Amino acid sequence: MREVRVRFAPSPTGALHIGGIRTALYNYLLAKKLNGTMILRIEDTDQTRYVPGAEEYIEQSLAWVGIKIDEGVTAGGPHAPYRQSERKSIYKQHVQKLIDEGNAYYAFDTEEELEAMRNRLKAAGSSNQQYSATTRMIMNNSLTLSEGETKKNLDAGVAYVIRLKVPDSEEVQLHDLIRGEVKVHSSQIDDKVLMKSDGMPTYHLANVVDDYLMKISHVIRGEEWLPSAPLHVLLYRFFGWEKDMPQFVHLPLLLKPDGNGKLSKRDADQMGFPIFPLTWTDPKTNELAKGFRESGYLPEALINFLAFLGWNPGTTEEIFSMEELAQAFSIERIGKAGAKFDIQKAQWFNQQYLKAKTEADLAAYLFESLQQENILCSEEKALKICSIMKERVTFTQDFWQQGKFFFHGPTSYDEQVIAKKWNEDVVKVLTLFSKEISNTAELTAAVAKSILESVTNQLGIGTGKILQGLRVAVTGNGSGPDLMMTMEILGNEEVANRINHALSIIKK
Ligand code: GLU
Repeated sequence: MREVRVRFAPSPTGALHIGGIRTALYNYLLAKKLNGTMILRIEDTDQTRYVPGAEEYIEQSLAWVGIKIDEGVTAGGPHAPYRQSERKSIYKQHVQKLIDEGNAYYAFDTEEELEAMRNRLKAAGSSNQQYSATTRMIMNNSLTLSEGETKKNLDAGVAYVIRLKVPDSEEVQLHDLIRGEVKVHSSQIDDKVLMKSDGMPTYHLANVVDDYLMKISHVIRGEEWLPSAPLHVLLYRFFGWEKDMPQFVHLPLLLKPDGNGKLSKRDADQMGFPIFPLTWTDPKTNELAKGFRESGYLPEALINFLAFLGWNPGTTEEIFSMEELAQAFSIERIGKAGAKFDIQKAQWFNQQYLKAKTEADLAAYLFESLQQENILCSEEKALKICSIMKERVTFTQDFWQQGKFFFHGPTSYDEQVIAKKWNEDVVKVLTLFSKEISNTAELTAAVAKSILESVTNQLGIGTGKILQGLRVAVTGNGSGPDLMMTMEILGNEEVANRINHALSIIKK
């Protein structure tokens, strides 16, 4: 069997979209499963779209989610360089072969001439105004000029591009492992530019040449590239590489949460969820977009979530580590239909992964927040907080966000709870309870419970009726983690102080 070599080939044109991470992930899972090689190739031939910092961002994002690169710009490897802008001479040499064999040609048309051609065709009612088999013979190129004229132009340094000479009338076919047979009539394909006037190859040429030279076995990429695939098939044929052509795998689109159309950054912004793995500041606009990492997602949870966007293991099991995903992964189980980006599901995965962590791991997240707030906390207290909060949190920063009351007494009290639950019985119980706990040596959860019960018994008031009042006095909130444990963590002095404070300012 052919050695499995896959590549993730992003263009450094900005922050890597979460869909890019999914593409990288599927490549990585296949490589991992079949003992293959994962390559990171930087497709930076479009100089006009180059964004500084984007390449580093790609590498950092992949590292954060745990996708390891075997060959690439930083990893190195036998096919270096892995940055396309450093491979210009390779493309030049290859495009020359296409010209020499009559499969590509020089085109000298100026922007104005191209525009005039399009206008003429439009005026004549033609629905297709492409540079193609039907129009190339009326244009200014090496097919319509004599050999001598072409040479003269080239020698004189007249600006040119190199175009692919697409056959006029044939069915171009390819097999996609997800879509099956794909057929496109060559009249639908235009004479794509392969080399630009600045001597840089276009995506199509560089991509195919590199996939061949880097011995890529599977091209796994987003569905938006499917329309380019027939053109790539033609290039493989013209280069004489048909038998080494990779298998094509075009992944289903990521859709908006309601399934209506492709997921965009705008949708994510509007619905308030991240779309980039890591926080990104656009160098042009200075606009800051918060990443999944900074929003409190765990990389393992994000990976698990992304793996299921378009693939499923065929069982009801949902929690998979990277290793388990690689074991279970298969291209056959990737669906054709677009995958809805259900952010609630991502949150659910995050909860599951947080819950599964040890208190010591979770405490690290709490300490991270506390450090930013300049708050000191003992290890023991942090572990206890994490232990009673882990079932309740969604994001890493929630231990702090939802647990601030462990460090600051309430500055306000949940008004709804006060309106509904704060009454004379509560005041009576809390007054006595606060007095009683002040006399105990140590307020464990069990002690707190028994004191509360004895107080309510003594006063003949049901404990259930005053619990929310107690909680609101101690934490300011109407709900939260186990109240007895919360009081244990706070200690008797603090709890008594908070109760007395609440009793003094909540009027009823
Ligand atoms: N450079 C292309 C991109 O940015 C690569 C597409 C492919 O994988 O062929 O997505």
